[in-house]
Amino acid sequence: MSRPDPDRTDRRSFLQAGAIASAAALSTSAAGANPPAQDPPAAAPGATIPKRALGKAGVEVTMLDQGAIRGPSYDRILRYAFASGIRMFDTAKVYGTEPNLRRWFEQDPEVRKEIFLITKDMPKAPSQLLSMLDERLEALGTDYIDLFFIHGLGDDHSLDDAVNMVVSDEFKQTAEAIRKSGKARFVGFSSHHKDRATIIQKAAEAGYVDAIMLQYRPWLPADSALNRALDTCWEKGIGLISMKQIAGQFFGDKPEGNILDDVSRRVPTLKERNLSPFQGLLHAIWSDERITSVCCSMRNTEQIRENVDAARRFEPLEAADLGLLRDATLAHGPTLCANCDGRCSDAGGTRADLGTLTRYLTYYRHLGDRSEARRQYALLPPEARDWSGADLDSARAACPERLDFARLLPGVDRDLG
Ligand code: SF4
Repeated sequence: MSRPDPDRTDRRSFLQAGAIASAAALSTSAAGANPPAQDPPAAAPGATIPKRALGKAGVEVTMLDQGAIRGPSYDRILRYAFASGIRMFDTAKVYGTEPNLRRWFEQDPEVRKEIFLITKDMPKAPSQLLSMLDERLEALGTDYIDLFFIHGLGDDHSLDDAVNMVVSDEFKQTAEAIRKSGKARFVGFSSHHKDRATIIQKAAEAGYVDAIMLQYRPWLPADSALNRALDTCWEKGIGLISMKQIAGQFFGDKPEGNILDDVSRRVPTLKERNLSPFQGLLHAIWSDERITSVCCSMRNTEQIRENVDAARRFEPLEAADLGLLRDATLAHGPTLCANCDGRCSDAGGTRADLGTLTRYLTYYRHLGDRSEARRQYALLPPEARDWSGADLDSARAACPERLDFARLLPGVDRDLG
């Protein structure tokens, strides 16, 4: 079988939580003009998929969270996800998708009361969250949101500033003021930063956030800093939402082979349970009881149906099966790292941010988010883009996900440069 076409809208991106699918991968017709592949199923009133408590906040949310997608299909996707039982919806100012939710609420006001709504913004200082929240409420056409996140904590801050952002008195007071106002029920942050283990650990110890959305893998080493940070969150009752858990998996840098068949062969439990490899990954994530929900930017009805089916049939996987699934995934050359502190650059003797470069390549090739990938790449300082002279073999040897930098980085220069 030939290498999967990276431009197709298919299963490769169905779990690309927190990321945005581009209009390029979808229809280019006007919003609402495109009928879905089939109409949303008629859901029985109140029929939802399984729920879990979001930390000590106690509120129950569905184990699946519909992430935002760009493009004209989004209006129908929102309704299909809702009709399929999903009651958690994720957006952000920077995605530009809040107006779609606003239109939905205007057309069906009852929906707003039934869903758990998350949005995000990017303050430089905690107190800015107050005015930002008002702007988000206006954009969404609602008088409250359920969870308000600092978006991508660490991306625009030094590590010290990022930590201070969520452990400071200013943040504590701001979060309390927000909760008291009723404009947002809960406050937290999202992060895929290479130092997110430190940020999450410090935030959990301070205890001012209600929930955190993080880039996650279901095979975190038990002694890793990120695993310990998640333990602290669990002990403190901080809700955890997984994102970006599958982007770049299964459709990586290996050019040959029927990858999905191979994964099923390597992990017999998947076949026994009649699970696709992607459903198996969802079950692997939900097997971690610390994870309340999985944010997936599902961008077609097939993806929603498959993920909802996985949620309804969830049973925890054994540790041995998690190991098999990890090995099968890594065998196919992932392109997106997750559980790591960026040790690849140190090992490669370069100031280039190898983990971030491959992440943007994944956005470009696997998530179809080409313009955003190029935009973010262009924002990197020159030294973070310049991998010339790097010892790529040493970088790969240091990488727990064994990213094949020698194969991937020329593609970064070609596609993003
Ligand atoms: S070592 Fe691997 S997993 Fe870690 S940041 Fe680098 S590319 Fe990502």
